[in-house]
Amino acid sequence: MKKILSIPHPFSLYGPFLHNTGFFRYHLNMEIIRLENKENSENNRVLRQKAKPVKNISGEIRERAREMLDIMHRDRGVGLAGPQVGLLKRIFVTHAEGDQPRVFIDPSIIWTSQDQVSYEEGCLSVPGVWAHVTRPGKIKVQAWNEKGRAFTLEASGLLARIILHEYDHLEGILFIDRLDSAGREKVLSKLEKQKKAG
Ligand SMILES: [Zn+2]
Repeated sequence: MKKILSIPHPFSLYGPFLHNTGFFRYHLNMEIIRLENKENSENNRVLRQKAKPVKNISGEIRERAREMLDIMHRDRGVGLAGPQVGLLKRIFVTHAEGDQPRVFIDPSIIWTSQDQVSYEEGCLSVPGVWAHVTRPGKIKVQAWNEKGRAFTLEASGLLARIILHEYDHLEGILFIDRLDSAGREKVLSKLEKQKKAG
């Protein structure tokens, strides 16, 4: 985690500006939307909805991207998708260890490798729960960045995994949906216990 935080933040220049407007403090109070172990709750409805294309990369979207990077760093996450902060748009941010922070707008997964890798995943919207998920080891993604520039990125390892996990959020899919029924049952009982404890 130390290593992740030591990487210069591309939006650090905006810090003073955001402090002046009060925006920075406001958005860092924002809670991430969490999955609840009950049907049809407002939180679950947002997390389960398919996000809409951004299309126009406006100043507002750039601000939301900066906000999402800040919230992700605050909560020690390595990825965060729009729906997790109540923004039902096709945007997510990543910051894998050893990589730079990245913004993906209207992304498409244009290629996935045949090889499948199992790795333990967690999610800021499903706190305290970790489980092995099988996903392609390498991917190619096409997206736009916060400056409105199109890019194609080939990723493997942790970055590929984060991108696939975040892309799922845009489709209303959570990592627990990719577990077998026994694994999913375990996660749901853990959520139930957390609810009783909390
Ligand atoms: Zn997640």
